[in-house]
Amino acid sequence: MSKFWSKIVNELDPYVPGEQPQDQQYIKLNTNESPYPPSPAVARALADFNCDDLRRYPDPESRRLVGALAGYHGLTPAQVFVGNGSDEVLAHAFQALLQKTAPILFPDISYSFYPVYCGLYRIEFETVALDQSFRIDVNDYHPGNGGIIIPNPNAPTGIALDLENIEELLNRSRQSVVIIDEAYVDFGAESATRLIAEYDNLLVVQTFSKSRNLAGLRLGVAFGNPALIEALQRVKNSFNSYPIDSLASACAIVSLNDEDYFRQCRQQIIANRERLSESLATLGFEVFPSSSNFVFVRHADRAAQSIYLDLKNAGILVRYFDKSRINNCLRITVGSDSECDQLLTALQKILA
Ligand SMILES: *Cc1c(COP(=O)(O)O)cnc(C)c1O
Repeated sequence: MSKFWSKIVNELDPYVPGEQPQDQQYIKLNTNESPYPPSPAVARALADFNCDDLRRYPDPESRRLVGALAGYHGLTPAQVFVGNGSDEVLAHAFQALLQKTAPILFPDISYSFYPVYCGLYRIEFETVALDQSFRIDVNDYHPGNGGIIIPNPNAPTGIALDLENIEELLNRSRQSVVIIDEAYVDFGAESATRLIAEYDNLLVVQTFSKSRNLAGLRLGVAFGNPALIEALQRVKNSFNSYPIDSLASACAIVSLNDEDYFRQCRQQIIANRERLSESLATLGFEVFPSSSNFVFVRHADRAAQSIYLDLKNAGILVRYFDKSRINNCLRITVGSDSECDQLLTALQKILA
């Protein structure tokens, strides 16, 4: 607290991201980054980048990147928005589309940034409880809300919702915006982008951080009806004209064009996830069915917090949430084969 702080700063309760130790000595399975490098085309684009271009501001509308994304997803450029990470895209969406008189709705167990944006933009919210098996029941999302946001697959549970249910949600709330946060969609869920033509209240948000191995690039995207995209642009152009730097734009475009590499990495993560899930089950963990690049687990007789601390001592970081309903669970990012092996070996010792 300081006498110089504005009223709202005093009231903020900022998001706390997973630890990013700078000494690089941990096996990092705590922030759902990819264990694999970005596409080799990204390294080439960086090597070939004309440094003199950094003298100039980038294109404020990122037209080349927007065009590439539109082509990739079968949309028009007017249906595409890009931002500095999907966290920024989400922040703009909260301000542009969810700041309404009625409270917005999101699951009680979900991405913990959502209540933070509500605090920042003074948006009222109600959380909707997941069922006993941590699933979303779309019938619990009552109409007359100020908007809805759900991650699909959900985080940190990893559980996906099928498109029929998403469509039901869109139909039940046609008067408000429904945001589907698809940060993990490429690892096993179906994207709602193909519903955009039919539903003017749908905004789909994706990121290059997870399935494109580019968390450090900071690139997030949104797809939706042109009116929703224009709302995001109005906020963006009142906040920062150039959220996408020239390097990020060049790297994102070549990454998008390397479909083979993208699929190969995704397949490998899915294969590792299935193997990891089976092995964790044999160690006595309940493993929730994951459609993402992490697994959410609970041990039958050991407290999650003590496993988290023991793993940290063994040089392995996983994510522990000190939050009711999930304070006995751990979220573990699916690493490379060898990282999974090291995790399993450490767990065997810890649980022995
Ligand atoms: C990782 C994540 C994001 C943020 O991704 P960035 O594009 O890196 O900002 C958004 N939503 C969910 C659910 C996430 O897990």
